[in-house]
Amino acid sequence: MTTSPFVKLDGVAKRWNGQLGVEAISLDIAQGSFTALLGPSGCGKSTTLRLLAGLELPDEGKIWIDGRDVTTSAASDRNLSMVFQSYALFPHLSVAENVVFGLKVRRVPKKERQEKLHRALEITGLLGLEGRRPGELSGGQRQRVALARAIVAGQRLCLMDEPLSNLDAKLRNAVRKDIKKLQRDLGITVVYVTHDQTEAMSMADTVVLMKDGHIQQVGAPEDLYSRPKNTFVAEFVGAPPMALIASHVFSGFGTDKTIGIRAENIQIVPKGQGRMQCRVSESEFLGAETLIGLDHADASGLCVLKPGLSMMAEGREIDITFDDENLHVFDAAGHRLAG
Ligand code: ADP
Ligand code: MG
Repeated sequence: MTTSPFVKLDGVAKRWNGQLGVEAISLDIAQGSFTALLGPSGCGKSTTLRLLAGLELPDEGKIWIDGRDVTTSAASDRNLSMVFQSYALFPHLSVAENVVFGLKVRRVPKKERQEKLHRALEITGLLGLEGRRPGELSGGQRQRVALARAIVAGQRLCLMDEPLSNLDAKLRNAVRKDIKKLQRDLGITVVYVTHDQTEAMSMADTVVLMKDGHIQQVGAPEDLYSRPKNTFVAEFVGAPPMALIASHVFSGFGTDKTIGIRAENIQIVPKGQGRMQCRVSESEFLGAETLIGLDHADASGLCVLKPGLSMMAEGREIDITFDDENLHVFDAAGHRLAG
């Protein structure tokens, strides 16, 4: 049995005066899924989301939502809600008034408004704060008001553009979990824009990694982590990123390839027994483990993880080794070769 995707983009492109925004964006999004659009600043995440929302119209391609061709539909006809980085709350309205603003505009009866408000405040943990103005709330609470407003809209598709980037790290973690739980409990489809790979990897069922207006890879977080399609994905996904080594360092790979290896697959071995000799460049204590950065003339991003507090002197020469089965091989253009 095949189910048609809830959201579909097919060959979508957007340019401004010939300047690239996004190109050849083709993507199927399943109903009830959590999809993260991930990539560095300027890669086209917001443009893709705004095209989905109807805030921009594509120069090429088609967009479907829930089986309907919405390519040229107005934003108000697309049956979706949006949450932005700037909470976009009305400062002179209370929490309750902000949350039900859209319902009022749509002339939803008062009783229904009250019920929906109560439920949304309950879900977002804002009960008791309904009388406050946004200025009397913390950043996390304001973002919850924006979430509550998206929830009362009752749409099955919710688009979020970097909704947590104004929050400090601890709060971001907490609200991240709230959003994920909400999405599951309500069974809504979320498309979530972030430049933070940890956020994308921890929240999404499907990660769409973009670069320079093009999709690089679409897959489950573990797919991108363990089978990156190219060296860009290898270096963008994972903390620490995958180390890349020129293939001439090894025998058997030729001289025009790039070999990738992850920190957890590298072992420090006694001198003379390693496949590579490196120099310790830094030790970073992370808590449960210590990240040892390594320098080698033909490698970038080499590092190894040691359990607990385990600093190593800068400049120390060490030997490292790894198993062939943990190596990722990329061709001269950076594309993954079989395996
Ligand atoms: P991201 O959200 O990934 O940081 P954007 O989607 O905002 O990236 O931008 C993608 C590219 O499109 C960038 O090069 C950006 O400068 C360009 N762009 C976005 N919006 C506009 C616009 N309204 N006019 C001209 N160029 C734009
Ligand atoms: Mg953006």
